[in-house]
Amino acid sequence: ASVEPEQAKASPAPAAKVEISSRDRVVFPDSGQTKGQLADYYATVASIMLPFAANRPISLVRCPQGRAKKCFFQKHDSGSFGDGVHHVAIREKDGGHEDYLYIDDPQGLLQCVQMGTIEFHGWAARSGDVEAPDRMIFDLDPDEGLGFDEVKQAARDIRDRLADLGLTSFAMLSGGKGVHVVVPLTTGHDWDQHKDFARRFAEALSLAEPDRFIATMSKAKRKGKIFIDWLRNQRGSTAILPYSARARSGAPVAIPLAWNELKGMKDAHPYSIDDAKKLLDRAQSKSLHGWGFADQRLPDV
Ligand code: ATP
Ligand code: MN
Ligand code: MN
Repeated sequence: ASVEPEQAKASPAPAAKVEISSRDRVVFPDSGQTKGQLADYYATVASIMLPFAANRPISLVRCPQGRAKKCFFQKHDSGSFGDGVHHVAIREKDGGHEDYLYIDDPQGLLQCVQMGTIEFHGWAARSGDVEAPDRMIFDLDPDEGLGFDEVKQAARDIRDRLADLGLTSFAMLSGGKGVHVVVPLTTGHDWDQHKDFARRFAEALSLAEPDRFIATMSKAKRKGKIFIDWLRNQRGSTAILPYSARARSGAPVAIPLAWNELKGMKDAHPYSIDDAKKLLDRAQSKSLHGWGFADQRLPDV
């Protein structure tokens, strides 16, 4: 279905009804976008972003004075977001509980933006059962100086190795430097099994091709290689959500893409918050149909 021009125009979704203050405040100094433009971006993409962002614990990168000033990573409520931003109590290591945040509609999304949020990061589990991971993410972090061609090839190779194990995966451009390979999973395994599988998979790749891949965080050992960051798959970790803006130069956004589109990409940030309408149109395309969804279990767990 084509998007009606009226709907696609970057304007706050009527359903959201969130008052955005300081609309003219510049949030991205090098490219000039304002808080109002950021809010309009999120209002426009809410319908394609919420299927991935809703009903899972989220962490926010908030930059109330714009990305050039102090930003902070926020996991817990400060009590001031508004009634579209909900709480879920999650058990901490010490046995106590902490309230984490989740949203389930455009209002919640926009209330976060009103509070200075630029980036939305999500858990790999839903707020309804935070002990049941439902997606695995391999975050490919190239060493500085490594070309994007290498990253793309690595992502495709990981897709193929996952396919060997019977797992369908999807590509996402982070809006930064790398590609995320996303593996949707049916729930039914726990965090230990989730993390173990991710670690073993990443270690096997680095063992097989030590010149290309590394499975440990060490920057010193990364020289000329790609770090397969499997640590996104531990309980409590987050990863950037599809269609989230990034607090980086040019106001780029993380985007889902089809495997056959990856080849043509020259970097991991081809779209910015100026492209809301284009992203809505893209999301209707056949190649993105079903992106991020697959009914499959982790093998051998
Ligand atoms: P790039 O493609 O540039 O690597 P990225 O989103 O993958 O972009 P990374 O630095 O590889 O960025 O990933 C870091 C991940 O760790 C983020 O996706 C985020 O969810 C999480 N993260 C970022 N900052 C913090 C923080 N201050 N505290 C905890 N987790 C964080
Ligand atoms: Mn990364
Ligand atoms: Mn990483």
